[in-house]
Amino acid sequence: MQVEIVTIGNEILSGRTLDTNFATLARLLEEASVKVAWHSTVGDSQERIAEGLTRALDRADAVVMTGGLGPTPDDVTRKAVSTVLGRPLQLDEGVLESIRERGRRMGRRLPATIETMALLPRGAEVWPNSVGSAPGLLLLHRDKPVMLLPGVPSEMTALAEEHLVPYLRERTGRAIETFTLRTYGVFESQLHERIGALDDAWQGASLAYLPSSFGVDLRVTVSGANPAVVRETSLRAYNELFAKVNGVVYAEGATGMEEVLGAILLDKGWRIAAAESCTGGLFVKRLTDVPGSSRYVERGFVTYSNAAKLELLGVDEGTLKAQGAVSAAVAEQMAGGARGRAGVEVGVGITGIAGPDGGSENKPVGLVFVALASPLGEVVRVLHLHGSRATVRERAAQTALDLLRRHLLGLPVDASLD
Ligand code: AMP
Ligand code: MG
Repeated sequence: MQVEIVTIGNEILSGRTLDTNFATLARLLEEASVKVAWHSTVGDSQERIAEGLTRALDRADAVVMTGGLGPTPDDVTRKAVSTVLGRPLQLDEGVLESIRERGRRMGRRLPATIETMALLPRGAEVWPNSVGSAPGLLLLHRDKPVMLLPGVPSEMTALAEEHLVPYLRERTGRAIETFTLRTYGVFESQLHERIGALDDAWQGASLAYLPSSFGVDLRVTVSGANPAVVRETSLRAYNELFAKVNGVVYAEGATGMEEVLGAILLDKGWRIAAAESCTGGLFVKRLTDVPGSSRYVERGFVTYSNAAKLELLGVDEGTLKAQGAVSAAVAEQMAGGARGRAGVEVGVGITGIAGPDGGSENKPVGLVFVALASPLGEVVRVLHLHGSRATVRERAAQTALDLLRRHLLGLPVDASLD
């Protein structure tokens, strides 16, 4: 089955809103082994939407449209679809009542135009919206599914996960298994080299490399007609892949590095304090993104100036003068200072040059020192990071989390596939 995704909205055509709905849908459909063969975007005009749908029906086996299902005059998707499919709009009392009921529950007075959201092309199957008002709609046109989802990303995602994906899976009659290994510390090309070409044992399985500031995620999708075969292939693929890259795997699924580290600290019963310069608190922010992190995060020091490093951490003035704020020695003293002043087991120090200015030949933008101090010993590492200011900061925080994870687990601190 080859699907076309049509996203609708002037704000997307103007570039002011990123088409994240497309990205979300394409990812979900890929996981469901449904091939997305076309993507188009049209403005909020009945004529353009009708054109987009007509073209999509000509070439695709199924069409997913998002946007333009709201109650305002620029929401004309239902009208356009009704015209193209030759299905007049009819008021659906059930949908109207559920929209009103939701309004009452949320204590909102609904505008009269809300009724237009309950005008559905004849014969539409309704997919209830668990997080908003506009339901998703499924229409069959000469046996081709036409699926309409609202534009608000959270609603679109909920409807796609709860209704669209299960529906298409059932329609294609395929069993699916997916898993993700999250790696950090080596390049995508190194993973490629290590993993090599997929052999016959991987029949029906595909492997996607997904790089970001958080590392490279390896996502495997196995699909086939026979659930038992799919299960077995998935297990085999997991074992083979894990054996090849386990040295750099930090988590599975959607688990973040901060959660992994939190679990380690809890397990050891150790608390942490961090002193940050170039990351401006991002490291502690990441740690405290995890619910319950108050059990192990004691405090963070954002010591941007030299004065703050002296005053709050007791960094030595002579070292600062001789080596500069961005140096291994200062990072070590920051880690030790954070640990000592907070009276905790684990201290972290991060200092570097985030850019875009402030670099020099000796100390270029992206130069970052990370120091760790714990009952297991002391570690300091120099990083050479690339990218924008935001990227350098994100990578510095992620690398510090990974270094600490490795240090606390007794793994080699420098990531390697061997
Ligand atoms: P709509 O229901 O089409 O009016 O969409 C409601 C809101 O959802 C819009 O104002 C956008 O902010 C957002 N939105 C709509 N379509 C998309 C899309 N394809 N990707 C990301 N956001 C979108
Ligand atoms: Mg819109």
